[in-house]
Amino acid sequence: MERFIPDENRLKSIEDNYKAVKERVQNAAVSAGRDPSDVRLMAVTKTVESVYINKAISLGADLIGENRVQEYLGKKDELHLDNVEKHLIGHLQTNKVRQIVGEVDMIESVDSFHLAKEISRVSVNKGVTTNILVEVNVGREESKSGVYAENLDELLHQISELDGIKIKGLMTIPPICNSEKEISDYFSSMYQSFIDIKGKKIDNVDMDILSMGMSGDFESAVANGSNIVRVGSAIFGARKYF
Ligand SMILES: *Cc1c(COP(=O)(O)O)cnc(C)c1O
Repeated sequence: MERFIPDENRLKSIEDNYKAVKERVQNAAVSAGRDPSDVRLMAVTKTVESVYINKAISLGADLIGENRVQEYLGKKDELHLDNVEKHLIGHLQTNKVRQIVGEVDMIESVDSFHLAKEISRVSVNKGVTTNILVEVNVGREESKSGVYAENLDELLHQISELDGIKIKGLMTIPPICNSEKEISDYFSSMYQSFIDIKGKKIDNVDMDILSMGMSGDFESAVANGSNIVRVGSAIFGARKYF
């Protein structure tokens, strides 16, 4: 990416936004009777130029999420990533697996055995273990990726047998909702699945992470047990797609 002069106003607003979001996440945790340090704030950096991502990192962002393999690989050398965890959160095609395995700390968007097998194969080849979350399509939307809740158990068992891959928890993107109650019900149903599976203690499956909640709904997600909220526009401003 070519060098450009960062917009000072945008840098300032990222600073204000980041601090405000951080505080809201902590307040939501406290309101829910949870320890604020149990909820991590991910800065979602898709379409955001490196200079603005580095601003968030300088403010304390220690977890970033990118959607696209190509975009992440194109930006990563410009980012100050020394103490930052990187997660892939976007839909991953099997033909991109080779490029991303070993480049991120976690792939949150694993939604099929086919994809998991390829991650396993490439990980074994590269001599690494890839941490993953299984993405659940909690709203059963055809337009969205993710496994349906009733197939989750079987998929987890299948993936748990693969080498070079370690399940760490679940991720979801709920449908657009019209009410607080509706969104809260989706989050609560995800939390229930998370707890049920945790109770089953499947070999080679850690149910530690429940990644849910975005700019418009992270407080409800925290109230319902999320421990990673993925926030983009509330930190960086509205996305401009290019
Ligand atoms: C873009 C994106 C987010 C963040 O969305 P905002 O509404 O901008 O906070 C979170 N999770 C995933 C998977 C995304 O693609």
